[in-house]
Amino acid sequence: MHVVDLIAAKRDGHAISADDLRQLILDYTTKDIPDYQMAAFLMAGYLRGFTYDETVALTDAMLASGGRLDLSQLSGPTVDKHSTGGVGDSTTLVVAPLAAELGMQMIKLSGRGLGFTGGTLDKLESIPGMRTQLTAKELIAQVERIALAVCAQTDDLVPADRAMYALRDVTATVGNTALIASSIMSKKLAGGAHAILLDVKVGSGAFMKTVSDATELAKVCVTLGSNAGRATRAVITDMSQPLADTVGNAIEVREAIEVLRGDRQSRFVDLCLALVGHLAALSGVATDAETGQERASQALHSGAGLDRFRRLVEAQGGDPHVVEDTSLLPIAPIVHDIHAPQDAWLATVDTEAVGRASGALGAGRETKEDVIDLAVGLALDAKIGDRVQRGEVIGRIFARSEDAARGGEHAVLDALGWSPRPVVAPPLIHDVIEHA
Ligand code: URA
Repeated sequence: MHVVDLIAAKRDGHAISADDLRQLILDYTTKDIPDYQMAAFLMAGYLRGFTYDETVALTDAMLASGGRLDLSQLSGPTVDKHSTGGVGDSTTLVVAPLAAELGMQMIKLSGRGLGFTGGTLDKLESIPGMRTQLTAKELIAQVERIALAVCAQTDDLVPADRAMYALRDVTATVGNTALIASSIMSKKLAGGAHAILLDVKVGSGAFMKTVSDATELAKVCVTLGSNAGRATRAVITDMSQPLADTVGNAIEVREAIEVLRGDRQSRFVDLCLALVGHLAALSGVATDAETGQERASQALHSGAGLDRFRRLVEAQGGDPHVVEDTSLLPIAPIVHDIHAPQDAWLATVDTEAVGRASGALGAGRETKEDVIDLAVGLALDAKIGDRVQRGEVIGRIFARSEDAARGGEHAVLDALGWSPRPVVAPPLIHDVIEHA
């Protein structure tokens, strides 16, 4: 196999054989192929696309680049969920304990955020003492005991994806369906859970900007998962505005705790309950998603979900008192209100720009080495379709300085579009994709 020939073949729009793709990825993982050749190949593939067979081969090759988590000692049913990424998306913090409460075993291997917001691990680490690095042995023992773990993916799982994702991130080659699907599904298959639920985001804060692109990605992921023998389903969900009211790290944990206390009603809560419903149906603990959702709502309102979250925090070394007293979480010294600039209906949100505003306050990282400020971030209470009055408080900035707070306010206001007429809110769930 000559790498230059593979790059040329892809550049000219030809399909690459499974054997060649496998070799390419394995050699890249062992650093026998340099970044510049892989970058050229990825860009050729990004522009020319990959067939379904190539996508399967990419997924298999990435999976073969490392080990797999062995869940055979667990009593099950084991479940996993994955969001393709959004702003104010802390669903895992609510979904995982509720799923455990309904009788599923949730193994959630999460990442750190690169970009404007922290990842689930960063958010969890805002809880004093919380550990997110578990050995495989600790993970299995914890899941058997409390039915859930949320922790970092171990280094030996899909190393090819780690290397390729970092390269894609700096070569503008992330947003390709086959590359995203193989990246996600190789990790999910290596994670070993029997049931896999994908939350594919669409809108101004997502990789996929249109429902048809998101649907295509969802179909490829569901086919890859189902053909690998896993019960796989995808929901296409709205990311045309931040999902939760808050964007940051500690403030998203605080919101998740308030949700689990039953103190909040929002699109975020509705989506969390719907996701648990789908997981319940997929794993067989409920006859259908509606029944699962109903049971999830009961577990939320009885406080059982919150209690399960407390057990998760305790099991991973965190301070469980945070559940009663969220003032134990880091909080920025400056809290600055955002005021509506006019009497109008909120019509659009540039969600990515809101994410960037949070990142500029310090809540995200641009390189792996950057240190996240867990205490800062923002809240946007107004949702698309809301009518506001000029001067009304529509959100807050949590910042280290008055200057940063004012900058954050301007950035958020610049991201909002207003209408003099009523606006219809976008649907929360656009579609549910199952294996044909
Ligand atoms: N999430 C992933 O895990 N991989 C991608 O390529 C994009 C989103």
